[in-house]
Amino acid sequence: MLITCPYCGPRDVSEFTYQGDGNRTRPDPDSTDLGAWNRYVYDRVNIAGEHNEIWQHSGGCRMHIAITRSTTTHKISSVRAMRDAGPGAGQ
Ligand SMILES: [Zn+2]
Repeated sequence: MLITCPYCGPRDVSEFTYQGDGNRTRPDPDSTDLGAWNRYVYDRVNIAGEHNEIWQHSGGCRMHIAITRSTTTHKISSVRAMRDAGPGAGQ
């Protein structure tokens, strides 16, 4: 699988590290709602289809990138730098 890093261009997936689900919304850091923190840390959705993910180009420029990838075909439909992904992306 190739991932196109916004800075380096197309690179083999072995240069990247999966950093997690890009769909989660992090609770307010001051929140004491243990249920919200528990859901943030442990709840995962295992979908078949388009999935938002966070990867890091750990073997290259070390940029964190937001990817939309099909979990059934591995086709990547969107790649953008986390700093450009907008509010709420990858929290
Ligand atoms: Zn890179």
